[in-house]
Amino acid sequence: MAIATAEIKKETKKVPLRGMMDNVMEQFDSAADQINLHPNIRKILSITNNEIIVNFPVKMDNGEVEIFTGYRVQHNNALGPYKGGLRYHPTVDIDAARALAMWMTWKTSLAGLPYGGGKGGIKLDPSKYSQAELERITRRFTFALADNIGPEHDIPAPDVNTNSQTMAWMADTYMSTRPPAERTANQHVVTGKPAGSGGLEGRDRATGYGVYLSIKFWSEKNNKPLDGKKFIVQGFGNVGYWAAYFLEKDGAKMVAVQDAFGSIQNQKGISVEDLFNYVQLNDGSIADYPKAKPVLDKDKFFTLNCDICIPAALGNQITKENAPRIKARLIAEGANGPTNVEGEKILLERGITIIPDILCNSGGVVGSYFEWLQNRNGELWQLDEVMAKLDKKLKESFDKVYDYAKRESLDMRTAAYCLAIERIERAYIQRGIFP
Ligand code: NAD
Repeated sequence: MAIATAEIKKETKKVPLRGMMDNVMEQFDSAADQINLHPNIRKILSITNNEIIVNFPVKMDNGEVEIFTGYRVQHNNALGPYKGGLRYHPTVDIDAARALAMWMTWKTSLAGLPYGGGKGGIKLDPSKYSQAELERITRRFTFALADNIGPEHDIPAPDVNTNSQTMAWMADTYMSTRPPAERTANQHVVTGKPAGSGGLEGRDRATGYGVYLSIKFWSEKNNKPLDGKKFIVQGFGNVGYWAAYFLEKDGAKMVAVQDAFGSIQNQKGISVEDLFNYVQLNDGSIADYPKAKPVLDKDKFFTLNCDICIPAALGNQITKENAPRIKARLIAEGANGPTNVEGEKILLERGITIIPDILCNSGGVVGSYFEWLQNRNGELWQLDEVMAKLDKKLKESFDKVYDYAKRESLDMRTAAYCLAIERIERAYIQRGIFP
């Protein structure tokens, strides 16, 4: 293949390796070695296409103006428009956005979607702002991003601390800045909107449902019925709650939960709905839930007694510090990048299976794809139709990864990466490099 890539991105800096980037690059390199990835394509995929940083002013409730920094990193669009969430969190920076954008490229490729990968967000602690301030911050961020996003170019979605309301504000702002006749044709600039505003029925549960399905598919293949199995969840937000909801419906028992405010356990079982109702009345926090005991040392959370562990909060949570003492036999990665490379090595040596993030939490982006299609085609899909389509798509992905891993004697993460990268490599080989 005659692909000369040396000049393609000379204006883009080589990505520095730090934190989450270390993790994603090590995972990428190991899969690239495994499939003997063409060196020119390795160069392309090792760096991001575009990195947008915007500083923008917002009027606060007290009349003062505050300046915010927002990010959007577009990693690769060989397979279609950039796709990925926006996160509002103090840890958001350019490195986190780069790593998360790369993960999105692998995730959309593995899921067989016509998308590339992007990610971004704003560095802020949303709990410090009023709802009216968050609305103005979101609208001004959307305005600052301007044509760097677009329904056929880069399509954001919710992530940590952003939700369907955030997406409704973004869609409204983006559409309002278009010429009148084009406004409604731009509704699919973001996904994860409320069902009444172009959102997909069931998008709220799509990621957690996918986490549950991955666990169910693995259990079926390994003859380990879910009934009576104990699970622990880190993060009781969108992903953690819905994963727990479906697992409990299938007979599994939630025995411990950790969120940003505390950790609780009850080996007899914690009712998912009861905890959810408590959290609604307790400012979003599980702390002091009366029907469980607090886990005083939060670092011991992952080592609690259970069969299945679901990290569904932030990255880099399972490391060499806690991996040797983890009791679960199955880790289902609801979050992006919750297990670092050193932690993973220890888990694999101990014979613990990891269903990797790019497979396990891909229900979210598949749901987003359905929403995008629905908006693009002017359709409205019913909930049962959405869930059945999700089930089918996720089963295909799961089987592909599981069978590849078995055939090549690989762990599931490396298998998932190999499949994802091979699909992008094929596209580059078919198309060549412009000019
Ligand atoms: P969310 O904001 O709804 O919930 C996050 C949860 O994590 C909250 O319960 C919060 O209290 C908890 N948390 C935050 N910091 C914590 C800490 N230091 N220790 C323990 N818990 C902490 O977010 P979400 O949408 O559920 O996303 C969770 C993870 O799943 C993220 O890694 C996100 O990137 C990933 N993800 C989300 C989606 C989606 O569709 N929402 C899709 C794919 C991946």
